Amino acid sequence: MTESSRIRTTGPAAAQKTPQVRPRTEGWTQKKDESGRPLLQFASPKRGKPPVHLADLTVDERVEKVKELGLPGFRAKQLSTHYFTHYTSDPAEMTDLPAAQREELVAGMLPPLLTEVRRLETDKGDTIKFLWRLHDGALVESVLMRYPGRITLCVSSQAGCGMNCPFCATGQAGLTRNMSTAEIIEQIVRANRLIAEGGLGGKKADDHSMERVSNIVFMGMGEPLANYKRVMDAVRTMVAPQPDGLGMSARGITVSTVGLVPAIRKLADENIPVTFALSLHAPDDHLRDELIPVNSRWKVDEALDAAYNYYEKTGRRVSIEYALIKDMNDHAWRADLLAEKLNQRGHGWVHVNPIPLNPTPESVWTASTREVTNEFVRRLNDAGIPTTLRDTRGKEIDGACGQLVATTEDEDAAAAMA
Ligand code: SAH
Repeated sequence: MTESSRIRTTGPAAAQKTPQVRPRTEGWTQKKDESGRPLLQFASPKRGKPPVHLADLTVDERVEKVKELGLPGFRAKQLSTHYFTHYTSDPAEMTDLPAAQREELVAGMLPPLLTEVRRLETDKGDTIKFLWRLHDGALVESVLMRYPGRITLCVSSQAGCGMNCPFCATGQAGLTRNMSTAEIIEQIVRANRLIAEGGLGGKKADDHSMERVSNIVFMGMGEPLANYKRVMDAVRTMVAPQPDGLGMSARGITVSTVGLVPAIRKLADENIPVTFALSLHAPDDHLRDELIPVNSRWKVDEALDAAYNYYEKTGRRVSIEYALIKDMNDHAWRADLLAEKLNQRGHGWVHVNPIPLNPTPESVWTASTREVTNEFVRRLNDAGIPTTLRDTRGKEIDGACGQLVATTEDEDAAAAMA
């Protein structure tokens, strides 16, 4: 069968007549529990907790903690200003604090959370991938990207991920643990510091002191809604005005999920208008059961209903993520079925972001061809669903979607530093 004849196949009925090309899943076995269900990890394995940090606390709790450390409560605000507006945890820079207690105060309120193990750059310095070691040796990554008019940071919310999606390198590595609120925030603070120092693309000689991360995507390691409370506390701190928080716009924050339906419904009631993205990747349960193991709990229609509810409650247009995998989920009839399911629920509430699959180690799957990709996008657009192919950054440094995983090389580098 040629590509073009496959493209012309329309509708599920037609597709049944034409045998689907399904790559054999050699090199990949879905982990199952005793009852034969795909193995999913929702609970974070118990490990030593990261030290409590100012960014884990509410404004009142910060004041209390400073008092416990034997200093007047107003010092909390000074520390917050250093952290959230100057992006520093270095006592030497905090000359407005009493010299005698400065070290102790900073050690108690701003303990080190992320040790930089490695930094990789591409796109002439406009894309930077950081590898961080957490206090217990767990490794996570963030990716910083300069675009015209905005700077986006792709943050991790868990060390590893328990959702086990077969095409995602992080998913295949399993869940190490949830990240704390402050560990999530610290990724942004460190990125802001680097930007202010002129470390992200642009001209070194220019003044970068007013620039900072404008957009956050929870598309690094982890399933953000499986670490709901800490992620939401982090979001609240991101949007809190400086110096209590980072003073970011909720609209610039994208929470992306495999589709944990009860958590999506809860998110819709938070009254924080973040951008919501659902990683759908297939419009039919038959295939999605295989691609997204969590589909065994919440089906395509339930996930789409929850996404629609998010739109209804918040007025925010939602995004559907769709990694195009050659001969797996890129059939024309699947584009049509996706459009049909989205249009059934309403118009103007959703847009689709297909992205050609990024290669992951030992994966048997590859990205769809350009022709098939274009046809998929065209069909959705023709059906009235705004669809734009997502730009993918950082492939050369294994920093693109689904490629974030700590390698043995990374572990060796981290061990050498420890
Ligand atoms: N757990 C969350 C967020 C992390 S992944 C989620 O699943 O949404 C961010 C996006 O990258 C998701 O849409 C995910 O499905 C996608 N992704 C994962 N592996 C990929 C790969 N190999 N190529 C392209 N996109 C991928």
